[in-house]
Amino acid sequence: MMKITTCAILLSSIVTLSGCSITNGFDKEKNENHAQHTAQKHTKNNKSDNRSTSNTQGEKPSIKGTTKVGPDGKTIVTNPDDILVVANKKRNLPSDYAPKDLVIPKIPWPFKENIEKKHLRKEAAAAVEKLFHKAKADGMDLYGQSGYRSYARQVSIFAFNSKQKGEEKANQVSAIPGQSEHQTGLALDVTCPEVNFDLNEQFGETKEGKWLKQNAADFGFIIRYPKGKEKITGYQYEPWHIRYVGVKVAKEIAAKNETLEEYFGLN
Ligand SMILES: [Zn+2]
Repeated sequence: MMKITTCAILLSSIVTLSGCSITNGFDKEKNENHAQHTAQKHTKNNKSDNRSTSNTQGEKPSIKGTTKVGPDGKTIVTNPDDILVVANKKRNLPSDYAPKDLVIPKIPWPFKENIEKKHLRKEAAAAVEKLFHKAKADGMDLYGQSGYRSYARQVSIFAFNSKQKGEEKANQVSAIPGQSEHQTGLALDVTCPEVNFDLNEQFGETKEGKWLKQNAADFGFIIRYPKGKEKITGYQYEPWHIRYVGVKVAKEIAAKNETLEEYFGLN
């Protein structure tokens, strides 16, 4: 039996980046009714696969050799299941990639339907539950807004934004299909009542936004698109978009005030 080790466990690491895609009216227009994903069972202690990216030995993970050139000349990442996968405007996820271990984390959401965007990969979901538990204990009113997004859905969102704003502008606020970190199932947009559950820069000024920045790394998350790093990440400041990379790497990145690209020496 092919063992898909949840987490990790693929080669050296890569980091995945992607823009959030501000969907504006898109979500409201669509009456989504996605079938719920069934979490695939994983066997964690997989002795045959020790190519873990979440290196516990202290050496820095590498993302060398984790891309190939696709038929259309685009750079495609070859380790999309890696928790350190890097997807960004230069590193595309395969169009047929979908995580096999998607689950819905038990956290507050501002809507009831169990739709696609409530899902995260199993390891990230467990971590985000701990993050939200601590947030609540500290008096924070955090909500999840958007997690996993399939390639097909990103196609729809990008087309919607292009129609509304033109392609150039659409590319600034939403990711081109294959370049959204949300396709990895490792990214979550977070919000709070003070900003009306919106995703905007103002969230970074709320007590929840400040708490998130301070505490995310303790649970394995980074603020993926920090202020002042727009040229490095390729995306505007997004205080609401967190990305799971595991506690060790998250703490290193936060301590150095880096981005995932800088951590891996990209750009
Ligand atoms: Zn996002």
